[in-house]
Order: sequence, then structure tokens, then C-alpha cells
Amino acid sequence: MRSGRHFLQIPGPTNTPDRILRAMHRAVMDHRGPEFAELGRGLLRDLRSVFQTENHVVIYPASGTGAWEAALVNVLAPGDQVLMYETGQFATLWKNMATKLGYDPVFMQGDWRHGANAEAIGAQLTADTGHRIKAVCVVHNDTATGITSDIAAVRAAIDAAGHPALLMVDTISSLGSIDFQTDAWGVDVVVAGSQKGLMLPPGLSFNAISPKAWAACEAGGDRRSYWDWRDMAGPNESGFFPYTPATTLLYGLREALDMLAEEGLDNVFARHTRHATATRIAVEAWGLEILAANPAERSNALTAVVMPDKAGADALRGQILDSFDMSLGTGLNKVADKVFRIGHLGDFNDLMLMGTLCGVEMGLAKSGTPFAKGGVQAAMDYLAG
Ligand SMILES: *Cc1c(COP(=O)(O)O)cnc(C)c1O
Repeated sequence: MRSGRHFLQIPGPTNTPDRILRAMHRAVMDHRGPEFAELGRGLLRDLRSVFQTENHVVIYPASGTGAWEAALVNVLAPGDQVLMYETGQFATLWKNMATKLGYDPVFMQGDWRHGANAEAIGAQLTADTGHRIKAVCVVHNDTATGITSDIAAVRAAIDAAGHPALLMVDTISSLGSIDFQTDAWGVDVVVAGSQKGLMLPPGLSFNAISPKAWAACEAGGDRRSYWDWRDMAGPNESGFFPYTPATTLLYGLREALDMLAEEGLDNVFARHTRHATATRIAVEAWGLEILAANPAERSNALTAVVMPDKAGADALRGQILDSFDMSLGTGLNKVADKVFRIGHLGDFNDLMLMGTLCGVEMGLAKSGTPFAKGGVQAAMDYLAG
């Protein structure tokens, strides 16, 4: 028995606000009936503001991985080349999926400490004079490394190379927490999920689709059925879906969109910037290193902290879970046991952040990790200043 609330400070799933939990506590309705049509139409209309787009957004009853697959199979044909950039584990997993599906990913090597290099992407595209590359796939906020890539710069590099490839971007851990401008940045396919910035439980994912991507889907694409955008288009016009939607999660999505609109997207982004800044101040005061090497690429959704030599990140996380009932994100793949990740996205405020940072600082002390005290104080000074 543990009293009080568990601190779920992994970078997704994030804390679900009570308003959203209450909105979902409701009987399922007929997904072919008039009441549903109204819900569906409203969601499909209002989702676009969160994506900052005029494009159509489709909703899948699937985790984010499903929307990755949908993005690939709707526009690529077997054997097509895709340019992908290694920003961390999520970019690696998307690349592995492309390989499994029979595409030919050109995987640009990264060091897990830097974002996608737009200049290098541009050079690769310029060299592709035969236009074999059909899409450039980038993870906006790689949740494994806490690195945010400059998507406008990637768009500019594609344009400067005069290359016709589609730009497809994973925003699963940035949508609703870090500014992402689908239309202004010319993103053809956006991939998103419900359980991070949108504050919902896991189970929904999204594609925002540009006219150019729709054309690629109509003209070609791969074998697909469940993920087929074309099957969504007709029913979506009247607020319906081609198969049973995740009705309960859609009730929650209605509430989440209302909450984001009430706060205002700019305020949501500013809040995330503030909490990320306070976190980085604490980490630096502890004398620990942030995995993202370039300050301009440090994520406002999470911070990946590098453990000092020989100290295990997983032992520290275990200590913090046992002693203070707080979950932190584990290090994945190349940085397993070397980093821990502090999620500071979603439904979050100053005191939740301070509780989180207190838990980390107490855990560092208890576990005997070499560090300097005072991170919590430095973050408090920033927040109160
Ligand atoms: C969480 C996450 C995923 C995976 O999404 P699932 O919902 O677990 O399928 C993919 N990409 C990024 C950037 C993520 O943060």
C-alpha cells in the first residue's frame, strides 16, 4: 500500500488530468449514430488546430507505431528508398520498420547527441539525381535522447536541393507540448499519438496528410487495408470511421482539445519551455550532463541525464521508485543504463516539477551517486524569480 499519488514522470504515457478521466467515464455510444457523427466531425475539425494545419487528419485506434506504419504504406511502394536520420531509438525503430516492410531506408548515422543535420540531408538529396528517394523521415522530438530537430531547416534543405521527396515527421512526443507547424514547415505526413502531449491514455494515433501525400497515396502506395487513408476519407466527411473507433478515447480527446484551446497553444508551449529550463538548471547544478549536446536542440518535453562514470541509471531509477514512488524513463538501446529520462510534458505544473526534481535529488543522494547538491534550490530560484 502506497499513500498519495504515484509520480509518473516517464516521457509518455503522461499524467492524465482528472477532467479527461471524467470525460471518458461514460457509456459507449453507437458509432454509426447521429450523436457520434457530431463528436467525430468536431474532433476531425478541431484536431487540425493542434497540428497547425488545414490538412485532413485521420485517427487510428492504435499506438503511435501504427501511425508510423500508416505513413509508410500509404505512400511508398515495395523497394522505395526513404531517407531517415538517426536521432535516437525512435528514429532507429522507424527505420527498422521500413526495412521489415520491404522498403530501402538510407539511414544517416547520428551520435544520439545531436538532431537531424539538415545540411547533410540536403547533400544526400542533391546527390540523388535520379530521385530514387521518395520520402525523408525525421523524428521531431526523439524521446530516447531528448533531442528536438529543426524541421523547418529540413524542409528548407529539401527545397534547396529541388528534390520532390515527401517530408514525414514523427511528432508523437512533441505534439501539444513543443511548437510544431505542419503547414508553415511544409510537412507532408505528420505522425502523432495520444499518450504524450495530448495527455490521453495510450491507444490513439494520427496522421495529418498534405494534398501531395494524398496524391501519392491515390497514385501508388503499398498493399494496405487497415491503414488505408482512402477508406477513411469518405466516412470522415460525415464524422464516421470505416471500422469501430476507440469511442472512449475519443471522449477523452474531445476534452483534451478543449483544455489545450482554453490554455492556448502558445501558453502550452511556454509552460513546457519554463519547466524544461528549470529542469536543465537543476541538472547543471547537480554537475550532471544532459545527453543533448547542443543547447538549441534540448527538448522541452523531457530531459535525458547522463549518469557519472560507472553509476548505473537503472539502479538509481529503482531506488527512486522504491523510496519515493516515482517512475522515471529508462535509457534505451545505445544509452541503456547510462541515462535516465525526466518527463516534464503534458498535464504538469510548477509544484509537480519540483516534486519530481526533489525525488531525483533525494535519489541521487540515497544511491551514493556522485553529484553536487543544490539542483532543487536552483530550479526553485528560477521558478520563483
Ligand atoms: C512513444 C513514441 C513512439 C512509439 O509510440 P507507441 O505509442 O509506443 O507505439 C514513437 N516515436 C516517438 C518519438 C515516441 O515518443
